[in-house]
Amino acid sequence: MGIHRLVTGLTGLAKQAEGCQRCDLYRNAKQTVFGDGAHAASLVLVGEQPGDQEDTAGKPFVGPAGRLLDKALTAAHIDRANVYLTNAVKHFKFEQRGKRRIHKAPSRTEVIACQPWLLAELNEIGPDVVVLLGATAAKSLLGNAFRLTQHRGEVLRLPAGAAPVDLNVDPRLVATAHPSSVLRGPPADRETAFDALVSDLKFAAGLLPHAG
Ligand code: SF4
Repeated sequence: MGIHRLVTGLTGLAKQAEGCQRCDLYRNAKQTVFGDGAHAASLVLVGEQPGDQEDTAGKPFVGPAGRLLDKALTAAHIDRANVYLTNAVKHFKFEQRGKRRIHKAPSRTEVIACQPWLLAELNEIGPDVVVLLGATAAKSLLGNAFRLTQHRGEVLRLPAGAAPVDLNVDPRLVATAHPSSVLRGPPADRETAFDALVSDLKFAAGLLPHAG
């Protein structure tokens, strides 16, 4: 389904996504969390899915992982106001345990169901570079066989046939870790993992046309 054929503009897409029922994740989440940021961004960052705080706020990357990403962007000299942030899956998937809602990874079926929204966002924005934060985001655009451990930090392209026929952008892609993996990792490894994320973000920013 070519969602971007039905409406134009990010605002129109976000409005349409509010009523999306392409998979079951809309049933339990509070709301669709569409992308947010600069509408003409040359750099787009894609995460996995909204978390508990994002689901409540209706904005991507406002929880703990978002705060770590903010620190990493600052360390990489990237202004968050100039980028567009979104997720491969737009509804929060979780398991209820008492009062807590515990994150659950989206299935491949859910990632594929949500992929047209991500592609439509890219089509509207036309970024030069897309950073894929974590394996789910990377597999959404690069296929299920993609291995982050093998291709992290490389310059990649959308594989032929991966996009709808009318996708009119061909950004360079860089896959790196999701900020939540830095938070979840062993405390002794966190500094190294954070530095590696910053290094990949700097590398991606260096691919932008205006980068020195
Ligand atoms: S997760 Fe994506 S495809 Fe599934 S209902 Fe939400 S917006 Fe639609």
